[in-house]
Amino acid sequence: MATYTMISVEEAAATILAHVAPLGTERLPASAAYGRVLAREVRAAEPMPPFNASTMDGYAVLADDPSPRRRVLGIITAGRPLDEAVVPGTAIRIMTGAPLPPGADAVIMQELTREDDGYVILERNARRGESINPRGQDIAEGQVVLEPGSVLGAAELGLLATLGIGEVEVYRRPRVAVLSTGDELVEADQPAPYGAIRDSNRPSLMAAIREAGGEPFSLGIARDDEAVQRRLVRQGLGEADVLVTSGGVSVGTRDLIKPLLEEVGTVYFGSVALKPGKPLTFAKVGEKTAFGLPGNPVSSLVSFEVFVRPALRKLQGYARLHRPTVEVTLGHDVRQTPDRTEYQRATVVWRPDGLYARTTGLQSSSRLLSMVGANALLHIPRGEGTLAAGTRVQALLIGELVTE
Ligand code: AMP
Ligand code: MG
Repeated sequence: MATYTMISVEEAAATILAHVAPLGTERLPASAAYGRVLAREVRAAEPMPPFNASTMDGYAVLADDPSPRRRVLGIITAGRPLDEAVVPGTAIRIMTGAPLPPGADAVIMQELTREDDGYVILERNARRGESINPRGQDIAEGQVVLEPGSVLGAAELGLLATLGIGEVEVYRRPRVAVLSTGDELVEADQPAPYGAIRDSNRPSLMAAIREAGGEPFSLGIARDDEAVQRRLVRQGLGEADVLVTSGGVSVGTRDLIKPLLEEVGTVYFGSVALKPGKPLTFAKVGEKTAFGLPGNPVSSLVSFEVFVRPALRKLQGYARLHRPTVEVTLGHDVRQTPDRTEYQRATVVWRPDGLYARTTGLQSSSRLLSMVGANALLHIPRGEGTLAAGTRVQALLIGELVTE
């Protein structure tokens, strides 16, 4: 097996992104496109509103009409236009959302009027354009309303419906095969005899993949046996766009993933100056992408966050690949690691005077509880010293901010 020089987090991230490109696109009904990334811009073929619409329940009038009383010609409700024009001395009762009748150039709200025997009396004159949403004011005809890379959420899907767009071209979601390796592993619902550990990485990584927009599928648990792992790695790369394995990338005698990836493809790096997550391995096998994540549950999740998630987003055409990084104030002392950047798990709390990081406790790479409730990975630069409480550090926000 090759030996791997330890590369920086930045170099590792750049190498990965240089080797993944958006997958193909597919056309989907808008109703099935929630959460997808648009592959093409969307233009409005029609203006919105499609007609001059009343924004009030009231009377459509002529603003310059000096008549003290106006004869009410009829009523227009939303969806029920009237074939009648407003002329001086007249008005038409109109409801919110209804098209303004010809002639009228203002709507006076009902609260400023009084009806008397077929006539309406205005408390004050209407201003031209009052209480009207003019045709095309919300969306102009031909306007680009969504750029490629837009994520289809509630507002975007509403917009598509407004414009009568029933089908969209979106990027395909990556299929991601997830394999756990280790002789000690048993399924989560199984009893664990002495020496055994339940496989927590697979459910954990599959959830993270889903959150990142991928379609995970399980390859199960592979024993630390070359033939077994070779078969499953090949199967995963055959069926999926991305293979994510966990475990078996360290220097132990039963760590087989690195040589296997070398055998089937090109390994770009196998060691990153990151704590936790040092043995992270990245390979390409033709168009397919493989990540060998470390076995420790926190290491695998942290390296997923930092390296795999942005790659999955790039495959899906996201414009923004990375989570936001913000500056926070340490609420506790942090000992630095001499040779590696550390991503410490913390809860970042918003207070009126700024963002504060509260540690999630013991930061050992086996302790999943350090990840539970964490909404940030604190970027602790390598060094020999201690960062005292009060120091400002960068934090990668991996969850919602908390307020106190
Ligand atoms: P490895 O990288 O295979 O040497 O594994 C490092 C540590 O992570 C060991 O303590 C393993 O038992 C543990 N580990 C590996 N895979 C998993 C997994 N899928 N679920 C939980 N723990 C794991
Ligand atoms: Mg192992």
